[in-house]
Parts: sequence; C-alpha cells; structure tokens
Amino acid sequence: MDPLLLSSIPSWSSLVILVSFLSYLAIIGSILPGKIVHGATLSDGTRLCYRCNGIGVSTKVISPTVSLVLYTAGHQSKDRGSSLKPHVTGNLIHDWWYGIQLNPNVMGVDLKFFFVRAGMMGWLLINLSVLAKSIQVGNMHRSMILYQLFSVLYILDYFFYEEYMTSTWDIIAERLGFMLVFGDLVWIPFTFSVQGWWLLGNKVELTKAAVVANCLVFLIGYRVFRGANKQKHVFKKNPNAHIWGKPPKVIGGKLLASGYWGVARHCNYLGDLLLALSFSLPCGASSIVPYFYPSYLLILLIWRERRDEARCAQKYKEDWKEYCKLVPWRILPYIY
Ligand code: NDP
Repeated sequence: MDPLLLSSIPSWSSLVILVSFLSYLAIIGSILPGKIVHGATLSDGTRLCYRCNGIGVSTKVISPTVSLVLYTAGHQSKDRGSSLKPHVTGNLIHDWWYGIQLNPNVMGVDLKFFFVRAGMMGWLLINLSVLAKSIQVGNMHRSMILYQLFSVLYILDYFFYEEYMTSTWDIIAERLGFMLVFGDLVWIPFTFSVQGWWLLGNKVELTKAAVVANCLVFLIGYRVFRGANKQKHVFKKNPNAHIWGKPPKVIGGKLLASGYWGVARHCNYLGDLLLALSFSLPCGASSIVPYFYPSYLLILLIWRERRDEARCAQKYKEDWKEYCKLVPWRILPYIY
C-alpha cells in the first residue's frame, strides 16, 4: 500500500503544517482589528457579522513567508559546499510537491490509470442517473438527448481506446498527488456533468438546424481528437506507419510532423475543445453555467500545452526547435 499512502494520504508532518496554518488563520482572523460588516438578512431573520480584516491577515501570512524565503536564500549561499541544511525552508511546499511519485503502482494497478478510469466511470453513472431523473419527471427533450448521446460516446470511446492513455501527458509526466486524485475522482464526474444537471431544470427548444450544427461540431471535434491521439500512438509503436496514406514526415527520428501533428503541435487539444463545446451547445445560449466545462478546459489545455512544450523543448532540444519552425501553430492554425 506504500505508493497509495505516499501519494494520496498526507504525511503527518504535512498534516501538522496544514492544521497549524488553518489554526493560525483562524486565530489571527478573530483577533486582528478590521471593519465589522453586517451580512444580508438570512431566511430565519438573523444577520451575521463579519470581521473584514483580510488585508491584515494576509500581511501576517505573507511577512513570515517572505522571511522564510530570505532565510532559505541566506542559508543556500552560506551552506553552498557544506552538507548542513536548514530544517524548515521556504521551498518546503515546492519540495513536497515534487517528492510525490510519478507512476505509483499498487499490486500491479497503476494508480493514475485507475483514477482516470474511476472518474470517467463516475461521470457515466452521474449522467445515467440524471437521464433517469429526466425520464421520471417527463422532461426528456432534444437537448438532453444530445448531451447524453455525445457524452456517452465520448466515455465509451475513452474505454475503447484506453491503451492510448499510456502515451499521454498524465501518464508520462504528471505526478499523482492530491490534485490528480481529486481531479479524477471529484472534478471529472461532477464538473463534466454540469450540462445534464442544468438541463434537468431548464427547457431549451432546439431547431433542427441547431441540432445538425451541434452534431457537426461533435463529429469534427471527435475526428480531430481521436485522429490526432491515434496518429501519435501508432507513430510511437511504429515510426514507419503511414499517416493519411503516406510515409510520415519525422524529425530527428522521434517527432511526428505529418497528419494532425503537421497541422498544429497540439491538434488533439483542439479536437477535445470542440467536443467540450458540443456537450454544452445543446443548452443554448441563455446561461453561461453549462459553458463551465469548455471554458475550464480551454484554460487547462492552454496551460498544459505550455508545460508540455517546455518539457519537449528540454527533451528534444534542436529537434523541437526544428519542429516548431515547421509547424508554427500550437493548437489552432492561423490563430494560436
Ligand atoms: P499529448 O497526448 O499531446 O502528449 C504530449 C506528449 O506527446 C509530449 O510530452 C511528447 O511526449 C509527445 N509528443 C508531443 N508532440 C509530439 C510529436 N510531434 N511527435 C511525437 N510525440 C510527440 O497530451 P495530453 O496527454 O495532455 O493529452 C492527451 C489527450 O487527453 C488530449 O486529446 C487532451 O485533449 C486530453 N485531455 C483531456 C482532458 C480533459 O479534462 N478532458 C485533460 C487533459 C487531457 P514524449 O516524451 O513521449 O515524446
């Protein structure tokens, strides 16, 4: 159980620091002076008072942190060449973060692989339950059918091509920590299903043209997403395999510059973003709530693309530079 404990259960020392931090926040928050603000009248007729001393509290958090960083810097220059190290340093959180295992395995089960699978399965179960509720309350309409159809196809496709996960960033480069466990077990099932929940309480009349346009976005997104991921996976297994019916263009023997990978350096992200959009379009344009998932995914994938590029630049050096010259677009050709 060691890898599981190490990666998903906080150590005693991190718990002590976390509890101390929260207690410190609670204590200084209740004693530092600040403006007392009366809140809104609640349903039981009462009004609560809030002590708005956030600025004072943040200085009491920031100043010791800055002192710790300066202390670390001082020790670094003094101890260079010496084996003595300070016990508490400003880089504590950073070091813990990177001490988390990359590919923990428990009795042959790869935990990262397992958690993504559990998240996708959770999403499917929530959607099916929302579907059952929608049938029960009699509001199964076109929008709900489209959302359910697209998401079930996406989830089944994930399981069908599950082996492709093995060459993705999550498996090769992301560390298993609280964020990945939380992201897979809680974030995926609950945030990906927002559209379904929203449709339960809101009726959207979709025209036939809107349905056709929505299906097109889904199909194009799917083709780009699956096609790009498949091409890279096939290429990693067999660098000579034909791409779009032709021998592949390869840089430095390792980087594929044909097919979708010759259109943009992360065309797979473009496909995924179109798919995410297609899950929300059935909800119409009356609210931004159902667009939470594509918006969040846009930010996540732009950030991830930057991190992945930095990793690839370090790994492939001159070959990566040559690839970037040949394929200048990151995600969306001519735009980004
Ligand atoms: P990629 O599958 O693009 O993997 C990136 C890795 O692929 C690089 O680190 C590099 O690894 C290799 N690589 C990059 N370019 C090339 C190239 N031209 N030729 C050969 N190898 C290359 O990224 P992700 O794992 O982030 O994404 C996989 C899929 O998962 C995407 O479709 C993404 O949209 C989706 N995803 C969905 C999320 C969601 O919440 N819905 C969240 C995150 C991802 P190496 O060192 O092996 O060469």
